[in-house]
Amino acid sequence: MTSLARETPKQSDIEERYSRQILFRGIGAEGQRKLAAARVAIVGCGATGSALAGLLARAGVGTLRIIDRDYVEPSNLQRQSLFDEQDAVESLPKAIAAARKIAAFNSGIVIEPKVEDLVPTNIEALLHGLGLILDGTDNFETRYLINDYAVKNSLPWIYSAAVGSYGVTLNVLPGKTACLACIFPDSPRGMVETCETSGILNSAVNLVASIAATEALKMIARGVHAPEVRRTLLSFDVWTNEHAEISAANPRAGCRACGERDFIHLAGEGRPHITLCGRNSVQIHERQRPIDFAEMDQRLQPHGTVRHNAFVLKFWQEPYEMTFFPDGRAIIKGTTDTAVARSLYTRYVGS
Ligand SMILES: [Zn+2]
Repeated sequence: MTSLARETPKQSDIEERYSRQILFRGIGAEGQRKLAAARVAIVGCGATGSALAGLLARAGVGTLRIIDRDYVEPSNLQRQSLFDEQDAVESLPKAIAAARKIAAFNSGIVIEPKVEDLVPTNIEALLHGLGLILDGTDNFETRYLINDYAVKNSLPWIYSAAVGSYGVTLNVLPGKTACLACIFPDSPRGMVETCETSGILNSAVNLVASIAATEALKMIARGVHAPEVRRTLLSFDVWTNEHAEISAANPRAGCRACGERDFIHLAGEGRPHITLCGRNSVQIHERQRPIDFAEMDQRLQPHGTVRHNAFVLKFWQEPYEMTFFPDGRAIIKGTTDTAVARSLYTRYVGS
């Protein structure tokens, strides 16, 4: 049987695919070429990251590097638009599942999945050579790290967050506008509530991602200093309809990051090796301990239920569910006690 699919997209196919976007005068043919040449990082591929990646991939951003430390679970499917039930059954890493899903609807762009936790020791390797960073994370620790890296290297980045029915986003243009640390010198108290405690509406996620993705398109197609690029902290609540916009046009005098250039988060000061990670789970950040999944699968068989694929090894021993990654990182569910998590890790992997 003859396949109707063509192997490589021709220029006319590319023009046809993006024709409705090229017709939009803010983009045009020149803007579309800039999108194709752009290299963008999406840090975190949960709800916001999925929506951002989906929009930018369909819009034809040429290279997307998707960095995520986690794997797909059934409770993600309510809002994480790039994943399906089979991804959850297989516990696929989100970065891998996202890359596969995107390849199915746009094979003409490059997706670089990275199953890693963005930390001070790998941020240079993971973000080097990219022109724009988008925030799909769920925590201020990683956002401050991105902010320090972006300010230090004069890279634009876009902060996005959603929890409950609330969303907030900020464009950071180092040297021009306020950075994240100008606006939030410390983790804002109101934002410590998380999706785990306050729940989340998928519509709040999609709205914040739509706004942030549009800002990304403007920055790429029109330039970061184009007048249409927003210079405010924009927030809204899709349930109560409250919304607010405060100016972020200027850096704050004496800002630790963009004023004093004291990049404490890049230095990784006081960064713990074990952290709480979502509801009832603990992450162990081992990095120099490659795990042989086949060997470990055999070794753990007598102790509980064990299953692995190329990307993760899962091990159930009531009441714990342990997920190991090839670089030695682990997420241990069923406890918030870091000592218990460390002891389980030591017992099954090593000290
Ligand atoms: Zn600042």
